[in-house]
Amino acid sequence: MRSTDLAIVKDTARRLLHNKAERRKTGLYPLEMLILYVTMRCNAKCDHCFCWEDLNIGIPEMSLERLEKLADSVPAFRQLLLTGGEPTMRKDLVAVVRAFASRHKVETVLINTNGLKPALITQIATEVKTEFPDLGLDFQISLDGLQETHDRVRGVPGNFQKALETLRIVRELGKNFQHLHAHVLTVIMELNFRELVPLNDYLREHIGPDLVHGFELVRDVKETAWGIPPEVAEKGVGPKKMNLPPRDSFPQIAEDLKSIQSRAPYRASAFHIHNLAQLKMVETAREQYKCVTAGQAVGVVYTNGDVAHCEFTLPFANLSEFDDNFDALWHSGKANERRAQISKCYCIHGCFHGKAVEYSWKGIAEMAKSAG
Ligand code: SF4
Ligand code: SF4
Repeated sequence: MRSTDLAIVKDTARRLLHNKAERRKTGLYPLEMLILYVTMRCNAKCDHCFCWEDLNIGIPEMSLERLEKLADSVPAFRQLLLTGGEPTMRKDLVAVVRAFASRHKVETVLINTNGLKPALITQIATEVKTEFPDLGLDFQISLDGLQETHDRVRGVPGNFQKALETLRIVRELGKNFQHLHAHVLTVIMELNFRELVPLNDYLREHIGPDLVHGFELVRDVKETAWGIPPEVAEKGVGPKKMNLPPRDSFPQIAEDLKSIQSRAPYRASAFHIHNLAQLKMVETAREQYKCVTAGQAVGVVYTNGDVAHCEFTLPFANLSEFDDNFDALWHSGKANERRAQISKCYCIHGCFHGKAVEYSWKGIAEMAKSAG
């Protein structure tokens, strides 16, 4: 196994041992990732958007003051995922990052973006990295196919070229700032499943062979989740028209993903193992990796302060009920009650199932195996 892959596997195993020890002390895995919706405004119209019903309808956004209280009260954790909506639509995004970084609450900030605003992203990246040189900052740029497919899926002519420009700019800036990265995330669906390898070929040629290219199967709460008690299941989470690739294409998709991963800059990837497992889960409707992260290692805070253990289950409380004290809310009776209600479901959602791979020895063994 190459040394980078060995380091990834060892680090994942070390974290699991640590997290298990913490869980023995407290009864819960410590928080590792907070998914923070900063806005529900968006400048794209994606076919596969799972929150399309909530976009651009004036859902209130927590003020910076409230977010600072959240940052004050959250324990230090590894990854802050800023999402929405399109996070860069929020004018004070740098201040939101500052709220967590200045309090040393987070190691890496991940920003999901459609990449439509390269100049704005340049400004955000430069400001954040100048002020916080040690903070990890990672832009997750969506690309769902080659130019024609991508622009069609996203409903925005020219999005493909803009996203590429953003990707190039952040990579260029990354030469001046340490711990600044950009990677590509592709949602696999009926419209693009034949383009996974061609897209990866294109990116390797035009951006660089060291680019990290991740994948996620299109999801919704009806067809890609099982066993959620109906009274706590989110109702409207999913695209307008769910367009999973046909089942008979799954073996080829798995082969394509393996071939892409075999030439990736690193081969030991929990997300790759998760991708193969999510195909199997949809094919068989059987659980692959137990969801142990929702409401423990991973939590979700929506723009209005609602908190959920995952995006497929309803929020169980609003931060305002706890004076915006996250820790108090996270350890409340309401939070525990909901944890008990979601102990038997399973789903393909990457933020939770992808992490579940890292939280299982079977998953870590698969990572090592696929890294050769
Ligand atoms: S998927 Fe993201 S970029 Fe596309 S419409 Fe939804 S929030 Fe906007
Ligand atoms: S993320 Fe976990 S808790 Fe949430 S629906 Fe999926 S399996 Fe259930």
